[in-house]
Amino acid sequence: TATKNVAVLGATGSIGTATLDVLRHLDAIDTESRWNLFAASGHANVERLGEIADGLDHPPAKIALSDPDCASQFRSRHPEGAFQISSGPEALVDIACDKAVDIVVAAIVGRAGLESTMAAIDAGKRVALANKETLVVAGSLVKTRLANRSAEILPVDSEHSAIFQCLGDKTCKPKKLILTASGGPFRSWTTEQMQQATLDSALDHPTWDMGPKITIDSATMMNKSLEVIEAHWLFDLPADAIEVVVHPQSIIHSMVEFEDGSVIAQLSPPDMRLPIQYALTYPRRLACQTPPLARDQQWDLTLQPVDRDRFPALDLGFEVAAAGGTAGAVVNAANEAAVGLFLDGKIRFTDIVPACRACLESHSFDPNPTLDILLRLDGWARREVHRIISKP
Ligand code: NDP
Ligand code: MG
Repeated sequence: TATKNVAVLGATGSIGTATLDVLRHLDAIDTESRWNLFAASGHANVERLGEIADGLDHPPAKIALSDPDCASQFRSRHPEGAFQISSGPEALVDIACDKAVDIVVAAIVGRAGLESTMAAIDAGKRVALANKETLVVAGSLVKTRLANRSAEILPVDSEHSAIFQCLGDKTCKPKKLILTASGGPFRSWTTEQMQQATLDSALDHPTWDMGPKITIDSATMMNKSLEVIEAHWLFDLPADAIEVVVHPQSIIHSMVEFEDGSVIAQLSPPDMRLPIQYALTYPRRLACQTPPLARDQQWDLTLQPVDRDRFPALDLGFEVAAAGGTAGAVVNAANEAAVGLFLDGKIRFTDIVPACRACLESHSFDPNPTLDILLRLDGWARREVHRIISKP
């Protein structure tokens, strides 16, 4: 049996934890391959990374902590021996390029995942991509790099995995991609109610259990915006061929409409282990831990239009997907900064999206930016958000 060596970047997070569960499961049931956690990274969660390193029969060969201070803490508790410990953002890139690695699971949150995701592509790996922000920031550069190498991106994001599955053999170009959105915790709240939204209410997602940043993104629906941009780059379709519908049950993960009007959908319970596993085993389908949909009771699958007035984030996503260039990097950075401020209790929930729009509109747009320009604008947008909110 062949061994699949998997590097999980962001192993301490929500997707990382689900991925380790999938790897354990695959290793137990797959008769063709061994599934080996070769390397794992965390940023600041020393405790959890320690559990990962100590809790496995075969500890990962490499452990990386991107926060150097946390790396020293980790080292003091885990003397080197069973695994190699490295630190700093460069350690993520080293792991992503390691010759022994077959698959890189990009599960770091935010722009912090960009360099390692790009490095995995440059090194020709299969990239199971959860880190949608990399495509939002630098989609066109990622596409160029992909075109020149043997690397492949397999989407982990449930909507994009669904579309990937619906596209089938790819002999027919899709006419429309229809992304579903749960609508988040504020799906039926008025704008006035959202102005008063507390952190706890924004973190209380009705159907998915995820990390804090994407949970807030789901509440503003910026997550769907980022996903429109992600779909644009992944499936090579213009913004006007992408639609969003609200589907509160999170069972239809997305749909594809073809030229003849036929719509194909992918359905499964809201559990990330299925799209993660498919990205790892594609084109194979193996038994999954997610129990299949129960069919012994009534199903209610509702589809509703999005209210773009209550959720102004959506317009931003379509605008950015249409504009390309530097727009994605600016909106993404502004959103990361604003979400951070909201999580710290510094701004109101309804301040997040206007801050992103302000940055988009006041930056100097460049249609063909280099990575350097994108990263400089990322820094600028973060500072700009802090400046906007500190104005009296
Ligand atoms: P979490 O917050 O749960 O985990 C984030 C991971 O990134 C942790 O391992 C964290 O390390 C690490 N990290 C944080 N900051 C940095 C940094 N500066 N440098 C390097 N690593 C860092 O997030 P999720 O797992 O929810 O999300 C991860 C990605 O997957 C996001 O891009 C999200 O949009 C996407 N995604 C998530 C879904 C979900 O169900 N959760 C669904 C679809 C997409 P540590 O904890 O050790 O500090
Ligand atoms: Mg998603």
